[in-house]
Amino acid sequence: MSEKQHDLVVIGAGPGGYVAAIRAAQLGLDTACIDKEPRLGGTCLRVGCIPSKALLQSSEKYHEVHGGLDAHGIKTGEVGLDLEAMLARKTKIVHDLTDGIAGLFKKNKVTRYEGSARITGPGTVVVEGADNVTIKAKHIIVATGSVPASLPGVEMDDDVIGDSTTALSYPTVPEHLVVIGAGYIGLELGSVWRRLGAQVTVVEYLDRILPGTDAEIAREAQKLFKRQGIKFVLKARVTAARRDGDGAVVEIEGKDPLKADRVLMAVGRKPFTDGLGLDTVGVAADERGRIPVNDHFMTSAEGIYAIGDVIAGPMLAHKAEEEGVACVEHIATGWGHVDHATIPGVCYTDPEIATVGLTEEQLKEAGTPYRKGVFFFRANSRARAMDKIDGRVKILAHEETDRVLGVHMIGADSGHLIGEAVAAMAFGASSEDIARVCHAHPTLSEAVKEAALAVDGRAIHA
Ligand code: NAD
Repeated sequence: MSEKQHDLVVIGAGPGGYVAAIRAAQLGLDTACIDKEPRLGGTCLRVGCIPSKALLQSSEKYHEVHGGLDAHGIKTGEVGLDLEAMLARKTKIVHDLTDGIAGLFKKNKVTRYEGSARITGPGTVVVEGADNVTIKAKHIIVATGSVPASLPGVEMDDDVIGDSTTALSYPTVPEHLVVIGAGYIGLELGSVWRRLGAQVTVVEYLDRILPGTDAEIAREAQKLFKRQGIKFVLKARVTAARRDGDGAVVEIEGKDPLKADRVLMAVGRKPFTDGLGLDTVGVAADERGRIPVNDHFMTSAEGIYAIGDVIAGPMLAHKAEEEGVACVEHIATGWGHVDHATIPGVCYTDPEIATVGLTEEQLKEAGTPYRKGVFFFRANSRARAMDKIDGRVKILAHEETDRVLGVHMIGADSGHLIGEAVAAMAFGASSEDIARVCHAHPTLSEAVKEAALAVDGRAIHA
């Protein structure tokens, strides 16, 4: 086995790892990045954010031409579904983007190793696979991400009973898809297959969907998803799922079992550190499998850092990217920081749900005095013109200082609109600051301004 030397080695080429590697190379560090998959980009690019968004886009178009254009005065003829072509488009997008990362590695002179990485002691990583090499590096960043969590009793076969990866490639539209878990994955992929014609039942343990999301927004989301024909079984704990003939049966505590021809397990994800050799450097994961780190992403072992889904916090690609950049900037310059209070979350359903900062429930629980401004998209002229009138923007600001503490929205393009709220919060803006900013007319962004005005009871179009 050959031996190589680098300043920094990043284990994992997902959004956290590959971005950290590129930034480190920009900062002059001789950087390597290891991934066991031939394609770079991690879960997000290969089997997560990107392919799911490709399918969400295609299925939305399909659904739209099925009667959704009538209000625009557009009559469509017979509409057909070529699922194979839809899946091929998704795969091409993934390939183009993962190839793009390989190109960025070349451009930035990041050395890429393909194989499973194992830390064997301080400053040493062994790679086994397509490349077989021992790497010596002063700094090692663990960016190995997460894998789907499982439920005892659910017999996964990665076919009829599978996780999100399986649900991105069903070869036919299921007649009845049972989704276990009403989080981001369950709702996004449930929406895809619902739009393509499946009957979709989402079974959720809690009495609400989208745990952690502001409850008012989650309630509205559930109402809208129901209108789209998605069925919800709440307060329902799935205890088992198993193959039954060509399909499957899902057992729910205290309720009738559900028959399905496909089951999607979407009950969360867990950090992935299997076989990484963290024990060889004395690093122990916590009770949830996460690697403990300090503010600079350093583990208890000198020279070993961890970022992204393997550490605490929301399992989101953009959170991992920020941490990757801050981690290497701190290594190279002594500075580097992530504002964890302003990390947005977006659920790419129709309408989109986007949120940043504290929820109303969290403010109540903390006893923080706040004022609330809500503006409905139905009163926004652009939303009317687009025929996308569902949803609202809600801004929560401190009662005395008016500082914006949380912004939550559901509505068309919320994933883009939340950017303004994130920037405002990152700069410590008040609701009045947002209200005083000129917003182009007619745009959906005016709903954000109006919600800010509504905090002070002076929205114009409400
Ligand atoms: P999640 O944690 O968001 O939701 C899982 C749901 O499953 C919860 O509501 C939970 O109550 C429910 N559940 C757990 N056990 C159950 C049981 N026995 N019976 C019924 N319900 C049960 O997890 P997810 O949707 O799988 O997503 C995983 C991770 O991936 C999350 O961290 C999410 O943020 C991330 N993700 C993000 C996006 C995005 O940013 N758009 C998209 C997909 C995934």
